[in-house]
Amino acid sequence: MEPPSLSNRVSVLLPYPFETPFTYAAAQALPPGTLVRVPLGARMAVGAVWSHPPDQGVKTRPIAEILARPPLPKPLMDFVDWVAAYTLSPRGEVLALALKESLLTAPPKRGKAFTFGGADPAHPGPILSAAQAAAAAALRDSVTHQKFSVTLLDGVTGSGKTEVYLEAVAQALRENRQALVLLPEIALSVQFLQRFQQRFAAAPAVWHSELTPAARRETFRAVAEGRANVVVGARSALFLPFPDLGLIVVDEEHESAFKQEDGVMYNARDMAVVRARLSAAPCVLVSATPSLESVENAASGRYTRLDLPSRHGGAVLPQVKSVDLRASPPERGKFLSPVLVEAVRETLARGEQAMLFLNRRGYAPLTLCRRCGHRISCPNCTAWLVEHRSHSRLICHHCGHSAAIPETCPACAAEASFVPIGPGVERIAEEVAALFPVARTLVMASDIITSPKQAAEAAATITERGADIIIGTQMVAKGWHFPHLTLVGVVDADLGLAGGDLRAGERTVQMLHQVAGRAGRAQAPGTVLLQSFSPEHPVIAALISGNLPDFYAQEAAARRPGHWPPYGRLAALIISATDEKLADQTARALARTAPHGPGIEVLGPAPAPYALLRGRFRRRLLLKTAKHIPVQPLLRDWLAQTDIHKSSRIDVDVDPVSFM
Ligand SMILES: [Zn+2]
Ligand SMILES: [Zn+2]
Repeated sequence: MEPPSLSNRVSVLLPYPFETPFTYAAAQALPPGTLVRVPLGARMAVGAVWSHPPDQGVKTRPIAEILARPPLPKPLMDFVDWVAAYTLSPRGEVLALALKESLLTAPPKRGKAFTFGGADPAHPGPILSAAQAAAAAALRDSVTHQKFSVTLLDGVTGSGKTEVYLEAVAQALRENRQALVLLPEIALSVQFLQRFQQRFAAAPAVWHSELTPAARRETFRAVAEGRANVVVGARSALFLPFPDLGLIVVDEEHESAFKQEDGVMYNARDMAVVRARLSAAPCVLVSATPSLESVENAASGRYTRLDLPSRHGGAVLPQVKSVDLRASPPERGKFLSPVLVEAVRETLARGEQAMLFLNRRGYAPLTLCRRCGHRISCPNCTAWLVEHRSHSRLICHHCGHSAAIPETCPACAAEASFVPIGPGVERIAEEVAALFPVARTLVMASDIITSPKQAAEAAATITERGADIIIGTQMVAKGWHFPHLTLVGVVDADLGLAGGDLRAGERTVQMLHQVAGRAGRAQAPGTVLLQSFSPEHPVIAALISGNLPDFYAQEAAARRPGHWPPYGRLAALIISATDEKLADQTARALARTAPHGPGIEVLGPAPAPYALLRGRFRRRLLLKTAKHIPVQPLLRDWLAQTDIHKSSRIDVDVDPVSFM
């Protein structure tokens, strides 16, 4: 008997950092998306047949196995190609976000069928207000059209945006299509999952980095086979193999957590819009404090805008006031002003809860020798070590390096001379314990609450009035609904403005507005106190007036003339090397070959703000172009022309969010 003829040639893309697919021989023509196992060097690898012309003439090895799995859907393959081209990442590296051998090869867990996927759109939902019902009807329409569209759902904190977009999810389910909801921190979004359960009498499939390998494999499979009809996930859920995606919702669309900062650097908010377009599905962006990008897209008519201008159920927006720290300073060595302390006292006396917000983990951000001024910094990073008294250690928040507080100063040999400078949440908790010894306090920070279970317990404790004072980092700003919380105190409202990058003001407004939005969400009205040394600053003024449209207009006026986003395009090149001279040399080589022309500007090279990070020296260049000039062709030519030493690395960050 003759062996089967291997006369067909197919391209197979492998989930490793290769730019193009490899050519293999096959006994039959295989449609794009087919999952196959192929030899790669001395080992075997799983990949996907790709729509790419195979190499002719070269000697090819045969495909080893065709996997009996649903093929990758075409919109997902198009998405992989699109993301690779946009972010200048090797196509195979992007495929690795969608396809991993570990998701396919191990057998499904026996005895435990997939129980997600049973979300029931006919289950009675909550009663919506007239404004909510109108917005929900508009979103349902966009789902029914089965066409690409983008809607910005802008609703004040507590307006019930979730209930509105869950009606769009319900509509996708009625049409037997799948829906994807992206959340910035899904592992901690316990209250969202409860609301979902109430609406649909079932839990959604979830997708995030905390899943066990078995749950990951089973969810991947259930999505591919269409059994999971709703997925709630982190940014990587965009790469799941939905055969029939009918809706994407991006909740808290302004969040910088949607930006992936290593490997393939993509912004899941923007890529969700692309994924929806390639799937002919509507995309809904949701926020109480939308990004200036989305506000502009709505103003120019590219996006439809829906507003929910008031709180649900008769609750009113909190009153926001500043506390001028120059006029009402805290006691020496303390951080809460008498005005804030008194407000907390009154709140507790009424039997209500107070929250103190400081976006800084640990006890103190800086440890200093009081005799010579020596500061303890990380040996691997341009950063001070942060004291974590709960662990009795100094810890670097960038590389994890940790050390004990030295008994003698390495600079001046003084003994026991180190003192903590500035507060973190642990230090605020200490101050609160001294001021309110009887009050029950609860600290919420990412190094203290590390699992969905702990987040759920903390949320339940607060809701059931098991805590009087909540002290937290940005973790407390996320969509929480605590009905008995009426006072929010922001310990340092100026903190986020110090960095001074492009979006420092916008980000501070967004974060503090979100924190403020935790106050007074039920019957009792809420108050927010912002401690600040410059209450006249436009950011603080915007928070006090609550006039966000005015703030957006100011931001727009500041960014438009210089072609800063969203009125121009940006890409960052981050050069790094373990050798400082090599980092400088590579940065200078790039500067010499930088693109130029009308509407094109290159800034730098300059040492990155973290000039040393995890043991690598870092330099930055920034390419800025007018909006009509795409950055990708310029970057491709630029990198191709430059002679780059192989032990230096260049990371390309298109649409950078972080400038560190
Ligand atoms: Zn010293
Ligand atoms: Zn470090």
